[in-house]
Amino acid sequence: MFDNLSDKLDKALHVLKGHGSITEVNVAETLKEVRRALIDADVNFKIAKDFTNRVKEKALGQNVLTTLQPGQLMVKIVKDELTELMGGDASGVNLSGNPSVILMSGLQGSGKTTFSGKLANFLKTKKTKKPLLVACDVYRPAAIDQLHVVGDAIKVDVFSDRGNQDPVAIAEAGIAFAKANGHNVVIVDTAGRLAVDTEMMDEIANIHKAIQPQETLFVVDSMTGQDAVNTAKAFNDILNFDGVILTKLDGDTRGGAAISIKSVVDKPIKFIGTGEKMEAIDVFYPSRMADRILG
Ligand code: GDP
Repeated sequence: MFDNLSDKLDKALHVLKGHGSITEVNVAETLKEVRRALIDADVNFKIAKDFTNRVKEKALGQNVLTTLQPGQLMVKIVKDELTELMGGDASGVNLSGNPSVILMSGLQGSGKTTFSGKLANFLKTKKTKKPLLVACDVYRPAAIDQLHVVGDAIKVDVFSDRGNQDPVAIAEAGIAFAKANGHNVVIVDTAGRLAVDTEMMDEIANIHKAIQPQETLFVVDSMTGQDAVNTAKAFNDILNFDGVILTKLDGDTRGGAAISIKSVVDKPIKFIGTGEKMEAIDVFYPSRMADRILG
């Protein structure tokens, strides 16, 4: 019946107006619509609730009910708040090292290997860097093959050591290889598992400690919705990462995970993945994301 949140809120508030005096309670009712929209977009329930409480204060402060189109003003307030919440300094990746080392973290299937390739391609093309990809997944030979396929496609060198079962040693050897061969960016792709477990966390913590990357990125599948919060927190507790990569935004998801993650770990979302191709990478724009989440 209604095509977007703005219409829904206008309608709700007009109905309320027709019933005489409008109170804080009525605003709270309409904010339930906002909360529902956020939860539909996969924003974590508690975060959506805290968020609408803040919006409520703002809405009452701005006398939202005396305007002609209260729904639209409400949506503007919501959008501004969302944009602010997802904002923060996302000024790209830190390339100050020589070589600059970038460590990729995240669950298996989140899109780490694909994004490692995309980032290497992006840095090569836009920033005229000479990246090296390093394959540190010692559990799945297919993952090493996959990184080689990606490297070949974008014409970026890949360092791997198939017999070696020690990811820390491989990462260190990769960096040494980069130094010896004039690579000024090293992207270290690591193993992930299907859920957070101690072994994986210990392993990535050890790699992180040994190579001391300039930039640690947490890659998360935007389709994982509510679960993304727990995963992001677990990785951030261990790695204190620098930024988030939200992948698979070409799918159906509204991308509410962006808000949940930003609220929980307070780290900038730096890039988004919008497809399987190497070119499907975009810088993250909070305001575009807010539009998407609001529908
Ligand atoms: P990893 O296990 O974290 O290294 O994840 P992969 O890079 O292997 O990605 C898992 C699957 O997701 C692969 O089939 C990728 O092609 C796919 N994938 C990765 N990023 C994206 C994206 O942004 N959009 C879509 N549609 N698929 C993606």
